[in-house]
Amino acid sequence: MFLIECPWCGPRDQTEFSCHGEAHIARPKEPDKLSDAEWADYVFYRSNPKGLHHERWVHDHGCRRWFNVARDTVSDKIRGSYKVGDKPPKVAP
Ligand SMILES: [Zn+2]
Repeated sequence: MFLIECPWCGPRDQTEFSCHGEAHIARPKEPDKLSDAEWADYVFYRSNPKGLHHERWVHDHGCRRWFNVARDTVSDKIRGSYKVGDKPPKVAP
């Protein structure tokens, strides 16, 4: 188990949260012009990095707000958390 820093509630046990995948997926600006392959890429394909990964999390058993987490996929260490719309924290690679 590890602690996750909710931007509103502070550090809490990971069991209070759930992860909902990669953060910073931009919705297409002109969706009617996308090909089927481009739609598939937007809807289904996600990065799977070894190392730093930015993810969307929600504080299910707390404030119920969404935020982003920078997590190292190798060590599972949380490198920082930040509100949706904020820039990711600068962390060493
Ligand atoms: Zn919270």
